Amino acid sequence: MTQIHSLAVFCGSRVGVDPVYAAAGRTLGAGLARLGVRLVYGGGRIGIMGVVANAVLADGGTVLGVIPRFLTEMEVAHAGATEMVVTESMHVRKTRLYEESDAFLIMPGGLGTFDETFEIITWKQLGLHDKPILIANIDGWAEPLIGLIEHAIARGFADPRSRGFYEVVSSADAVIDRLQTLQPGRGGPAYRM
Ligand code: AMP
Repeated sequence: MTQIHSLAVFCGSRVGVDPVYAAAGRTLGAGLARLGVRLVYGGGRIGIMGVVANAVLADGGTVLGVIPRFLTEMEVAHAGATEMVVTESMHVRKTRLYEESDAFLIMPGGLGTFDETFEIITWKQLGLHDKPILIANIDGWAEPLIGLIEHAIARGFADPRSRGFYEVVSSADAVIDRLQTLQPGRGGPAYRM
């Protein structure tokens, strides 16, 4: 049985140009429902976010959405989530997403996904949490992101040990496999740089 009970998924509010991304979102959602892992996410019904949430719900899984009020007013909130928390700001939303999860997964997305990815990695660097972070490199989507971190390491702006803050997996199936052996953080601060 997985020791990860709630997984925060950061991903796009668009589906991207290739159907491979939505397909990965469906595989992920079905896998989370099968494992009994709760999806914690930004609460949207659009993009890869909506695809993952729909797939979890379709297979009887549990979904917590955390959405800021201004986005509910733009009518992008998912109406079918098991639970929906509405926050007054993006910052409260992000903090709640982090608190509700045992681990984090980055799936394909755009600028908002990059923001969340770097925030959760840098908070680990600062010792604010020690929860596992997976990056799903669906169809090579994450290569420039990982390349940017490698660039910072090569130029002396990041410690090579930064690579240890996250783990790259190659597919949604690989995420589901990895979740079954992944150890949650010890609850204390992460290793400090
Ligand atoms: P995107 O990857 O740009 O499609 O955004 C995916 C998720 O990130 C959505 O839940 C957005 O609400 C969120 N998001 C978008 N822009 C930002 C931002 N500037 N800061 C934090 N989160 C964002």
